[in-house]
Amino acid sequence: MRLILVGPPGAGKGTQAQFLAEHFAIPHISTGDIFRANLKSGTPLGVEAKGYMDRGELVPDSVTNAMVADRLTQADTKNGFLLDGFPRNVVQSEVLAEIVEKAGTPIDAALELTVDENEIIRRLSGRRVCRNCGRIWHIDSDPTQDAAVCDGCGGEIYQREDDKEEVIARRLEVYREQTEPIINFYRTRSLLVSISAMGAVEEVTSRAISALLAHR
Ligand code: AMP
Repeated sequence: MRLILVGPPGAGKGTQAQFLAEHFAIPHISTGDIFRANLKSGTPLGVEAKGYMDRGELVPDSVTNAMVADRLTQADTKNGFLLDGFPRNVVQSEVLAEIVEKAGTPIDAALELTVDENEIIRRLSGRRVCRNCGRIWHIDSDPTQDAAVCDGCGGEIYQREDDKEEVIARRLEVYREQTEPIINFYRTRSLLVSISAMGAVEEVTSRAISALLAHR
């Protein structure tokens, strides 16, 4: 199964990706996670991405496309993958289409998660992440016992710089302007599967699995 996850920031792409990747036994490839890992270890890629990420802007296509093209040559993607946060504009969609066409490994579906605007703000502003294992938490709906410590691995809990209110507004704008057009890209290729991402995490996961299996 080769899957793309599309949806505004806060739709729950990262959370659903964790479960869907496990269900379909495919690697979860999050471009945001790759950038954050590079940032943490201070690589040139991380240094270049930081400014864009902090402002809620997209990292330039030249950087992002090369990074994804490289990731998709790795052995664990042989039987499929789940892309979370890529593509994020039409150029990236076209580049991905070229990569998979050359490799003879077509995309099976682009899963769109839809969610109300109020819910987006609630989810993003309350989101917390473990610095060690990357597990996503929420201060109201999925809190850790100790606000500073991950229940899963004991790692440090932090709030992403771009989940602060000033940056959230810009990220939503970037989504509407640059990312939303890719929905039509996949619709016209009969690859789009849209589901509501409102409700409990497990409900959304089973909705997604049913919709993907029905689409096959
Ligand atoms: P995410 O974790 O998916 O919300 O991504 C966090 C940030 O990483 C985004 O706001 C962008 O600055 C950057 N980023 C992630 N994926 C991409 C992409 N496909 N193209 C450009 N920038 C990206």
